This record gives sequence, structure tokens and C-alpha cells, in this order.
Amino acid sequence: MRIFDPHIHMSSRTTDDYERMAGAGVRALVEPAFWLGQPRTNTGSLTDYFDSLIGWEPFRASQFGIRHHCAIALNPKEANDPRCREVLSVLPRYLAKDGVVAVGEVGYDSMTPEEDEVFAVQLALAVEHDLPVLVHTPHRDKQRGTLRTLDVLKESGIDRGRVVIDHLNEVTVGLVADSGCWMGFSIYPGTKMSPRRMAVVLSQYGLARMLVNSAADWGRSDPLLTLRTGQAMLTAGFTGDEVDRVLWRNPAEFYGQSGRLDIASADEPAPAIAGNSFAGNSIARGET
Ligand SMILES: [Zn+2]
Repeated sequence: MRIFDPHIHMSSRTTDDYERMAGAGVRALVEPAFWLGQPRTNTGSLTDYFDSLIGWEPFRASQFGIRHHCAIALNPKEANDPRCREVLSVLPRYLAKDGVVAVGEVGYDSMTPEEDEVFAVQLALAVEHDLPVLVHTPHRDKQRGTLRTLDVLKESGIDRGRVVIDHLNEVTVGLVADSGCWMGFSIYPGTKMSPRRMAVVLSQYGLARMLVNSAADWGRSDPLLTLRTGQAMLTAGFTGDEVDRVLWRNPAEFYGQSGRLDIASADEPAPAIAGNSFAGNSIARGET
């Protein structure tokens, strides 16, 4: 099983995670810019972070044969902090860089007027730079946040085929399915979407424009839930080719719209790491 995780925050994960992911078949990923838990107090804090997303993390990933790309944006939560606002003026410099394949995460956290403004500015930047957009939907009041997101996208005039609306669930997927936007699902341990529930959603809504991610960060999350979802799909009767479509070809198609995706050699076998080949690893064989 080859896996492209379209949304994962590797900056908050250990090198052991990269190793486990490589063993599980993860060969490419996109790391969107987000909040760090501790509020940032100035623009330099954000630009240092962006620099790590285009420099240090791709290097760390490459040691395990994983192609690392990123999405750059001022996240919805910090859109509310006037100390971070100035970063909007330096975003164009980052959106021109090779490893940047989207604008994101943008969207809503608490649905404030400040978030409205920053969301609209960044959608305009995406159009200007011809980049896809990754939209976060709020964890609270998700349905209202999703509807408002769809309204804002409509007003912006952006091509809906270049937008993924993420963190959907059984309640919100139906709102997005007919919009033309891509549908993103974050699979978490214990809460929200599970691999089994995801397989049910795929059987109900089909595989087109569907993206499955682990959204792993420093919270309780698991970078291998993409693999688990593939396994749940097989158990539910999907074919290996259908699993490949959801876990590899769909994210490649979505982010490929940036014209910057570099995964051509990702089909080669993963390199042996520190003398430790994954070939005999049960996870590599797709077993649980
Ligand atoms: Zn995220």
C-alpha cells in the first residue's frame, strides 16, 4: 500500500514517527502551517516556522524516503491576534517557493470578523499564485462553519476544484459533496472519524474528490491511521486499486494542481534506514 498523507503536522512528531510511517507505506505528505499551542507574539515567529517547513522538515523526511511538501498560511486561530497580522504581507514570498503546494490551513476557528477578513485575503492570494487551498473547519459548531465556508468560497470566485474542505464528518460531508470542492477527513484515535466510519462514508459518497489524512500533531493522534483506513476499506470490500486511489492518486491529483508536486520517484522502494530494512516488517505487508 502506498500512502500520501495530505495533512499531517510533522514538526510536532518525532523521528520515530517518520520511521514508522515509512515502514507503513507513507511515501509523500503535505504539512500545512498551523497554530503551535503557545501563541506566537510576532511575525518572525511565523516566518521561522515557515522556513522550517520548507527546509528542515523536508530534510528530516527525506532521510526516510518520504517526500515532504507544505502548505503556507496564517492559521484561523492566529488570524485573531493582531501581533500576527503582518505576516500576510510576507506570504507572497513563501507562496512562490518550490516545496509549497497549497495555501493552508485557512478557514474558521471561532468565526470572528477577523477570521472572515484573513480568510478572504488568503483566498485571493491562492488565486493570484495559482495554488490549491486547504480549508480547516471549526471543531465547534462545525455545520455552521462549513456552510459559511462554502458561502465565502462562492463569493471569492475561486475554482472549487482547487479547494479541499477538511475535518469533515458524516454530518458535514453532505453539505460539501455537491459543491465541487474536495472533501477532507481527519482520522483520529478514539474521537471524530475512525477508519471504519471512513470506509462507510466512502461507500456512501464514492471515491471522487475524497482525501483521507491523519492530521497528526502533538495531541492524541496517530500518523498510521491512513494505513488503518486503507485496511478498513479492504475489509469493507473495496479493491486494492480503490484504496490506492483514495490514499495515493487523489492527494497526488489535488496537490498536483500546484504544478510543484515532486513524487515522480516515490514509487521506488523505500531505502533501508540505518541498516534496518522495513521489508520484513508486518506493517509494511499491510497486516495489523
Ligand atoms: Zn491541521
